[in-house]
Amino acid sequence: MPWIDQETCTGCGICVNECPVDAISINIISAEIDMAGCIRCGICHDICPQDSVRHDSEKVSEKINDNVEMTKKYMALCAEHLSDMQEKNKCLNRMRKHFNSQKIIAERTLEELEKLEGN
Ligand code: SF4
Ligand code: SF4
Repeated sequence: MPWIDQETCTGCGICVNECPVDAISINIISAEIDMAGCIRCGICHDICPQDSVRHDSEKVSEKINDNVEMTKKYMALCAEHLSDMQEKNKCLNRMRKHFNSQKIIAERTLEELEKLEGN
């Protein structure tokens, strides 16, 4: 899914004009995408002169770090609120189950998407 790098976007408006579903607008000085309206066509990515429209895959490391930090936060909160250090590991196991289910969802979704090829 596309996202706009606010650091490099100059707000030139080219992507706003080219988006086929008017999902991009200029917010003060830079562009932003209404993801509810975006149809993931990739045009904005291809035409941006600043290379400011980026792809989800570029946020993988950031998302992994966020997930690890979120897990650490919940582990600490479980231990604190339940007054039991063992709750840390129970929380860790719950988070493992959560991310494992996300992994299964992603894997099975990819399997289903394979079947769409050529349809
Ligand atoms: S084309 Fe690129 S630089 Fe111009 S507004 Fe869109 S994202 Fe920003
Ligand atoms: S990917 Fe396509 S629909 Fe989505 S914001 Fe960019 S140009 Fe618009």
